[in-house]
Amino acid sequence: MSYFKELRVEPGARVDLEAIDADFRPDGPSRDEAEEEFRELTEELRGLQHLMYAEDKRSLLVVLQGRDAAGKDGTIRHVFGPMNPQGTRVTSFKVPSKEELAHDFLWRCHKAAPKRGTVGIFNRSHYEDVLVVRVHGLVERDIWSRRFDHINAFERLLSDEGTLILKFFLHIDREEQLERFKKRIDNPKKNWKISDADYSERRHWEAYTEAFEDVLSKCSTDVAPWFVIPANRKWARNLVIADIVAQTLRDLEMRFPEPEVDMAEIRRKYHEAERSG
Ligand code: AMP
Ligand code: MG
Repeated sequence: MSYFKELRVEPGARVDLEAIDADFRPDGPSRDEAEEEFRELTEELRGLQHLMYAEDKRSLLVVLQGRDAAGKDGTIRHVFGPMNPQGTRVTSFKVPSKEELAHDFLWRCHKAAPKRGTVGIFNRSHYEDVLVVRVHGLVERDIWSRRFDHINAFERLLSDEGTLILKFFLHIDREEQLERFKKRIDNPKKNWKISDADYSERRHWEAYTEAFEDVLSKCSTDVAPWFVIPANRKWARNLVIADIVAQTLRDLEMRFPEPEVDMAEIRRKYHEAERSG
């Protein structure tokens, strides 16, 4: 099955999140089989990232969005953790600083875009400026509503200049979120993750749904598609995201660059060095 095709939001299609089952599990593999498949995919992803780094022609930007406790941190750890840190960079977007607020909303994101040969991961992103900003009325409607076009133009620019873009919305339902909040309370190692905002944001569930649906419907393009990832089951989420990223990188048919040196000459020098010790 191609998760890429199945979970991609068709450009221009209207998304109804209520209609998408957050509990979805890939039919076919059992959980154990899926975990084995996932391990193989992360190995493959390491190789593909290495190739991208060596080729030094393109970059990959992964955007992660989702409600509190949707699993953005876990996705980064499990799916992208095995990659070589030398070629990856994670940027977590928090409440903007004074300096950031004094610029246009894309300024801080553009600076964090991945350089050639590397993988950039956005843990939250420029989309916060049409999500939390909209839900809390941090700027006027006529300002945030213009941002969808700016976002599409920004992503088109990155794409034109050699960046592949994949955007994942981690879709959990209300019950799952509450369950995860409970685990954060019950597990002392997770207490630090709790924030008051988790609960106040939950009260805006419907407003966020509307804002996410607009994002997914207006900003899924051929060059920067959105995927709605059913994320109640962490193992299914990991498998599906790894599969989509791997498929995308595989399709590039990347090649190691030709060596810049004359290999015959280098071999001759090596044998000479070997002889003389
Ligand atoms: P966390 O991801 O749990 O560390 O929380 C980061 C917080 O920063 C979230 O509550 C986001 O909604 C908030 N945030 C991120 N970007 C923006 C933004 N552009 N404007 C306002 N709040 C933001
Ligand atoms: Mg949080």
